[in-house]
Amino acid sequence: MAERLLIRVMKGGNHAKIVTLNGKKITKMPTSLENLTGLRSLDFQNNQIFKVCPQLSTLTQLIFLNLGNNFLEEVPEEIKYITSLKKLHLFGNRISKFPPGVCDGLQNLILLNLNNNKLTWLPEEVGRLRSLTYLSLNCNQLTSIPRQLCFLKNLSELYLNYNQLSRIPEDIKYLKKLQRLSLARNNIEFLPEEFCDLKKLRILDVAGNIIQIFPSGFQDLKLQEFYCEENPLFRKEPIIADQQEDLWNLLEITARFIMNQLEEKNSFIMHAIEEYPDIKNKISKGKRCVICGKFFLTTWLECVQFVSPSETWKISKNLKLIPLRVLLCSQKCFSERGPNIFGIA
Ligand SMILES: [Zn+2]
Repeated sequence: MAERLLIRVMKGGNHAKIVTLNGKKITKMPTSLENLTGLRSLDFQNNQIFKVCPQLSTLTQLIFLNLGNNFLEEVPEEIKYITSLKKLHLFGNRISKFPPGVCDGLQNLILLNLNNNKLTWLPEEVGRLRSLTYLSLNCNQLTSIPRQLCFLKNLSELYLNYNQLSRIPEDIKYLKKLQRLSLARNNIEFLPEEFCDLKKLRILDVAGNIIQIFPSGFQDLKLQEFYCEENPLFRKEPIIADQQEDLWNLLEITARFIMNQLEEKNSFIMHAIEEYPDIKNKISKGKRCVICGKFFLTTWLECVQFVSPSETWKISKNLKLIPLRVLLCSQKCFSERGPNIFGIA
């Protein structure tokens, strides 16, 4: 039947640029597709296709391909030969496999829609889809995303709603053009501090996760919309802090001394540290106390600070204050903290 429908399309000659066979109960793609070498747009959505035909790979002028709402079980490998492809819709299939080689040919792909499939993982090679600006993976079963995804330097919209993600890679900071990020309905507990480097981010949705606290610096993001309902956020109630006496081991005492001397530009220490790259590397991970501004490395007091969201943010209605994670160097600084900082029990 599909062949017949296609022949009807081809009546005007083999020069068809657009073929739309939407909702025709097609189970097998017509092999005569190979005659349509000048085809730019092919729409086979809402059919019953299990497997694409090998002739698909001959459509080297194709820009738009929609195979949404079919019965595909993997991202078709034939697609890698369609190097002209810019928009690919594979939503609403049964896709659980994403062959790594597919990405190599899709250097011009701008949009990839894999919503409503059964993906549990993504290949590292997604990092090779270098033109990608829009990636949608809503309603899959992803438990993690490969860090290579964070190297898609043109990506501006990323949708990962309704998956099983528990963490976001620190490398997220490399998505310099990211404007919209949707992470609703996952199992995310923390957003990494690097998240605050997403200077272009305007819309963030983290509704329905298990976030209690946001990284410090979060309030400086230039968001326009922020959704965070249904998270067990810390509320502004004094949390009884169960803080012990300060007890630092030798590494911590030494690290603090070196880091704070370097801050004060002690020339002897500055010179000496160059001889010890291992130590230099270790202390580069030091953090700063929000009260006294001094450095620490492995021991701190975990606290929460409540700040008002920026007035320019459009936010969830019941969110009056955002809980931010702040770190203090010592009991002394804890006793000098402001009224908006509480210890976390
Ligand atoms: Zn301090």
